[in-house]
Amino acid sequence: MKQIISVRDLEELLRNGKGLSSLPGDALLTPSARDLLREHEWAASQNTGSQHVPGTPNAPKAVSSKSSKVDLEAFFNSAALHELKLQLCDIGRRLWQRAYVDGNGGNIAIKVGDDLALCTPTLVSKGFMRPEDMCLVDLEGNQLAGTRKRTSEILMHLQIMKRQPRAVATVHCHPPYATGFAVAGVQPPTCMIPEYEVFSSVAIAPYRTPGTPEMGKLVSDLVDKHNTILMANHGVVSWSHNNVEDAYFKMEILEAYCRTVLVASQLGKPVNTMTPDQLKDLLKIKQSLGIPDPRYGLKECELCDNEGWRPGVTCAVPNRETSAPAAGTAADPQAEALVQAITDQIMSRASDR
Ligand SMILES: [Zn+2]
Repeated sequence: MKQIISVRDLEELLRNGKGLSSLPGDALLTPSARDLLREHEWAASQNTGSQHVPGTPNAPKAVSSKSSKVDLEAFFNSAALHELKLQLCDIGRRLWQRAYVDGNGGNIAIKVGDDLALCTPTLVSKGFMRPEDMCLVDLEGNQLAGTRKRTSEILMHLQIMKRQPRAVATVHCHPPYATGFAVAGVQPPTCMIPEYEVFSSVAIAPYRTPGTPEMGKLVSDLVDKHNTILMANHGVVSWSHNNVEDAYFKMEILEAYCRTVLVASQLGKPVNTMTPDQLKDLLKIKQSLGIPDPRYGLKECELCDNEGWRPGVTCAVPNRETSAPAAGTAADPQAEALVQAITDQIMSRASDR
């Protein structure tokens, strides 16, 4: 029978200084033991005295797009890159599970050097990617390693990374509520929910054919002051100065927000918003987190400006003064006459018996 190794077994093994080679070859690892093993391998790969690649965990050797094919392949197949490939798979799965992607839609990229990025492949569902599906590209989008072809929308990710040097990771997907706002060309209103105010800074880019340099240019023109861009008639792209999970969180926050705003706008009551003072407090937190926002330094009266917000759908509650009948009066003489005729008929039939 195969031996099952739990996280405790593994911890004990490592505590006793035993190598992982002492595990039986056919041992089965529990999921948490597998996680621990990954962390251990990861830590080991960081202790090899290798050089640091900006924006990424340590890599075995500093490489650039000009490095030799052999060095690029070694870099691409290193433990450090493997970890990032697993992160891309994980984020892809979360995008798919939340229905933020459809078909082969959506793409993700992580900067792995001054002029290198790791990205997802084209024509693969983001929910079912494997580490070996990932691609290495230079900042012009030329593929340097990986057997699958890189995403056709990589130019937009790379243009963001070039225009915003703090962007270490980018995520693009089509979450339905946020994309609905992008299709309607409606900028989500502000001053309603703290998470959105603190972590998101949203702008809308005009429509261009996906994958074209023009599309990337229009998006990247906005990334100086915004970390989440609604792409008109298409979807959303976000960037993070922390890591790929943080770029993905921008999607969760935006999508939850658009959904909530849509619900609130249908309840037949004007929505309540924060005061400029309350927003100021949130912006202070935002600034301390290093998140961009075009509102820093604005006057209080300009902070909660929702000029562009036009809730398109409201509850069709009849206006009492104009269309609702006062108690005891006829709403519609014709309908009233019809009701009377039916009542008379029923009464006459009842008396026939
Ligand atoms: Zn897309």
